[in-house]
Amino acid sequence: MAERAPESLQQKIEARLRYYEDLGIRLFYRDRTTAATAASFAPAVSTPGPTPAPQENSLPKPFVKPLPPKPAVIAATPRIAPVVAPLGPTLFESVDKIKDDTLLKIREDIGDCTRCKLHMGRNKIVFGDGSPKAELVFIGEGPGADEDYQGLPFVGRAGRLLTQMIEAMGLQRRDVYICNVVKCRPPENRAPEPDEVNTCSPYLLRQIDVIRPKVIVCLGAVAAKTLLETTRGISQFRGEWLEWRGRKLLATYHPAYLLRNPNAKGEVWKDLQKVMVELGLQPPKKSKSS
Ligand code: URA
Repeated sequence: MAERAPESLQQKIEARLRYYEDLGIRLFYRDRTTAATAASFAPAVSTPGPTPAPQENSLPKPFVKPLPPKPAVIAATPRIAPVVAPLGPTLFESVDKIKDDTLLKIREDIGDCTRCKLHMGRNKIVFGDGSPKAELVFIGEGPGADEDYQGLPFVGRAGRLLTQMIEAMGLQRRDVYICNVVKCRPPENRAPEPDEVNTCSPYLLRQIDVIRPKVIVCLGAVAAKTLLETTRGISQFRGEWLEWRGRKLLATYHPAYLLRNPNAKGEVWKDLQKVMVELGLQPPKKSKSS
């Protein structure tokens, strides 16, 4: 008879199943042919019809794309750490690639969006801002009051801190691209709900596909958990290089969190320095007067 998983693991599996259910994925089976490791308790999605279900019972191996050799001055390529990646068809896999897509087309497709309930309280859609050719994309959670008013991402208090972080990296806001998981302000600045994230994510994915950044920085847990489709807490993988759809992704704390916990700024700065190494950036020279 199969052994029962320890209670803590069962709770984790239940939490994960609830997360999948939130995403609308409900059919699961367990492949009993494989060894009973912790990973094999994770669900895989069954596919109807004669096509055999993909072997998704164990955690996928991190896909590490070989990188071109870097000049010696740039530090070693960061390790791509494994993360609990989704086991079923992912939120993003179901999005068709659009030929000759552009940011303008995406914005036009969004239109005066009423696809989810967030439209009811919004003033302006906050699409994104910055260079369409940026090597670095920052992804936040969703617009706040200032962003909703101006139609631009990260222009409030947290935004000013993000601007300082970008400038400390030797960049300007116009050099990077900044956007959010959801494009309309959630009421009372609450976290976006799964149906809202699911509705808006395809547009975020298209934005990233059009921009093709070298590095994606997720600001905070909502962005990180959405892209990585994980329920793991951000502190478990913050500052680690991860691979996401063939791109390098690093999650760090949200600037709003830093406003409440300034002591965490040092950790975020270390994360940003990793990004700088990856992009070959030098911090700006201090002017003599400063
Ligand atoms: N917080 C976010 O996550 N995004 C914004 O645009 C502003 C604040």
